This record gives sequence, C-alpha cells and structure tokens, in this order.
Amino acid sequence: MTLFQEFKSEEVLAAVLRVLKAKEILTDDELVAQMASTDSANPGQGARMVAKAWLDPVYKSQMLTNGTRAAEMIGIPMLGMPPLGVLENVGNIHNLVVCTLCSCYPRAVLGYPPYWFKSATYRSRAVRDPRGLLAEFNTTLADNVIINVVDSTADYRWMVLPQRPEGTDGWSEEQLAKIVTLGDMIGVSLPRA
Ligand code: FE
Repeated sequence: MTLFQEFKSEEVLAAVLRVLKAKEILTDDELVAQMASTDSANPGQGARMVAKAWLDPVYKSQMLTNGTRAAEMIGIPMLGMPPLGVLENVGNIHNLVVCTLCSCYPRAVLGYPPYWFKSATYRSRAVRDPRGLLAEFNTTLADNVIINVVDSTADYRWMVLPQRPEGTDGWSEEQLAKIVTLGDMIGVSLPRA
C-alpha cells in the first residue's frame, strides 16, 4: 500500500491545502477565484478563439504561436493554467488530442472534459486506431488525410483549430462561433455550416 492509499483523498487534499497556505503559495481568496474561473470555463470560449482565427489572419498566427496569449487577448483568464498550444487542421493533416496518461485537457478554454475523454477506451484507441475511433463519432476523413495524434500533458495542453466549413462566407464571428463544437476542438468531429 502506498502512502496516499492509506489516506482518503479528502484528507490528502486538505493536507495539501494546509501546506500551500502555510507556505503562502496560495491564499483562500486565490483558491476561490481559481475554482470560480475553472467552473465558469466552457467550450464557447474556445469556439470564440476559433471563429476569430477564421476571420483574422493576424490573430490566427498569434494563436498558433502562443495559445495562452491568444486566449488572454479575448479575455479568457489563463493565470496559473498550463501553457496552451493550438494545432491547425490543414489540407491533409487532421489533429486529434488525447491525454494517454490521464485526463490533461485545456480546461481554461474548453471547460471540464467530456466523460469519454478520460476513458481508457478513448485514450488507447486514439493511439491504436484513431480512424476507427473517429468513425464512432461519425467522423469520416478522406483516405489521404493523415491523423496527427497529439498527447496533452500536465505541462502543455492542446486544442485543435478546425478548418472553416464551406457555406459560411460572410458569416459574423458570433455566427461562426456557434457552429464550433467541443468535439471539433478535440479533433473527434468537424464543424458543419
Ligand atoms: Fe492527463
């Protein structure tokens, strides 16, 4: 039995919080603010980034260079979050994000992960059989499309910048943001007009 297994998880959490406070690493107010910001994050935030990138090439290049900064530019709080990387779907490259180890996920821009993201099935099939996995999400890619499976980690979180779908010419940023789903930004689906 390991040290942690001897304690209930609530006891471990309480002990960690005591140490963080005692060492003045985290105050109660900071903790509450961090929890509020995590609880209020949702896929609409990532969708706003995607829609803006589709309309604004300068923003798009900033987003691909530094996702964290691009999120902050549109008012998404990123303080204390792991760096955010953005993977662009282009031509015959399609990106799929997974955390093979556990459930690392860009919560700041997408909110809490969907239940399947944390499942052993998703995590293993994303690596072993990404095309079969996408089929489960009713996503079919052309045979010449290469699926780039990217591992989200504790140090670096990834989101996908999908391709703008046909039939969206002249749409506003708000209209475009509405068609971008959570799955599109993980890479299990494609936005549709
Ligand atoms: Fe993880």
